Amino acid sequence: MVMGEPEKQKILLVDDQKMNLLLHAGMLKDLDVEILETTHAAEAIELAASHDLALVLLDVQMPKMDGFEVARQIQAVEGRREIPIIFITGASANPAEVFEGYAAGAVDYLVKPVEPVILRSKAKFFCELKRREMVIRRQAEEIQRKNRALEREIAERHQVEEERQESEVRYRTFVELCPDAIAVQTGGRMVYFNTSLMRLLGASERDELAGRGIESFASPGCKASFMEHLHRVERQGGTWDAVEASLVRLDGGVVDVEARCGCMLIEGEMGVQVALQDVTERKRLEKELRRMTIHDGLTGVANRRHFDEVLEREWRRAARNGEWLAVIMADIDHFKQYNDQYGHLVGDDCLCMVAKALERSIHRSGDLLARYGGEEFAVVLTGTDTTGAVAVAERMRRETMVDRLDTGTGAPPRGVSISVGVAAIKASPDGNPGDLVAAADRGLYAAKAAGRNCVFIGTVGETTTVKAVLQEARGA
Ligand code: GH3
Ligand code: MG
Ligand code: MG
Repeated sequence: MVMGEPEKQKILLVDDQKMNLLLHAGMLKDLDVEILETTHAAEAIELAASHDLALVLLDVQMPKMDGFEVARQIQAVEGRREIPIIFITGASANPAEVFEGYAAGAVDYLVKPVEPVILRSKAKFFCELKRREMVIRRQAEEIQRKNRALEREIAERHQVEEERQESEVRYRTFVELCPDAIAVQTGGRMVYFNTSLMRLLGASERDELAGRGIESFASPGCKASFMEHLHRVERQGGTWDAVEASLVRLDGGVVDVEARCGCMLIEGEMGVQVALQDVTERKRLEKELRRMTIHDGLTGVANRRHFDEVLEREWRRAARNGEWLAVIMADIDHFKQYNDQYGHLVGDDCLCMVAKALERSIHRSGDLLARYGGEEFAVVLTGTDTTGAVAVAERMRRETMVDRLDTGTGAPPRGVSISVGVAAIKASPDGNPGDLVAAADRGLYAAKAAGRNCVFIGTVGETTTVKAVLQEARGA
């Protein structure tokens, strides 16, 4: 058969007389059916077994095996129980024979000589019946095939779902055991978070965090940049660069975190996984370390290294803008004697007292007070000319005189005085800040030489010129 062409229905003609076969086949030739014919009962059974027949026309009187027996044997073949059989018998057939025929599975009975119109019409009827049966069978087979495919698909989906659930359980276990706080969110709402996150944000029940986005915990100062980062991750895919943020806990406390965000597909939607590490303690230590590296351990003011750095930086800035820069050097008078008399511990307290007095004397945020060494302090003043710097120096000298310290000796509390050197210059790129310090130092040396507790100006670039200010303070 050619594909697409309907299969021809098959009709089996069985008769021991070749003539009858020819005759009956001739009657059916217009029907467009395939005619199989045999004169042998045994072959008839074989043909019926190997072909899907629309109809069997079976002669009743045959020599070796009569038609009834042939019918019984055909119907005993698997799948041929319902095969339509029309018996053809001689005119002399008696009613008992007819009944036996029906009992043997006949659907109809024809008497020889067969009337062509009747045979054709009956054959046509059974061929149509067969055709419909075949259509229905094919449809049933198609339905069965589809059912099987559907069942397979359902089974596959079950398997995929099981695997997805397993993988989700694995993911959740992994995330749960992770010491980092982890939140997974889509559309700005957390759909999953671990216990570490609850701890980090100070939540005791999951409900307390439900429906919120992690960015809603960001402190006002970093909220905008944190949200922007999350959106960028969502748009551009996974980036695991760490960003810093401060989060406000449910109890109002603030935690510093380092956040690593990556995008992932969550139930078909693009989402973000945020892993947060609490860096509050690290930041505190960093701050402490920074404080220690720039501050003097005894007095708490800046140390010399920081002073040098700031002076260098301010010099460059002032040089760029052609601005004034001033340095003040102050040294406690007769401090060796003070130490010898009251001991080092009282001396230390005295240093702290002086540092406080000096701090009180400088008011501008750009100004920096540092402990330059032993009992010597230095100040850098930005945007300040000689007159301004002298005013600050004089304030430092007077403020130092205000404070008194109980020396523990029963004697009345005692203070100290300072001698001060001042230098100021309009900074230029070819000058250098060391010259400014040296000039202030010369002023300080002159103040000591002039009797201490006074302020002298040292001039930059000149080795000898110093100028006394406030003559009345000399030797006070
Ligand atoms: P002058 O008026 O000429 O400056 O005399 P002075 O005694 O202050 O100067 P000198 O340089 O002779 O002595 C400085 C003293 O400062 C020596 C030391 O005992 C004291 N000193 C330096 N650093 C510290 C410190 O950290 N703690 C204490 N208690 N004393 C210090
Ligand atoms: Mg001294
Ligand atoms: Mg000294």
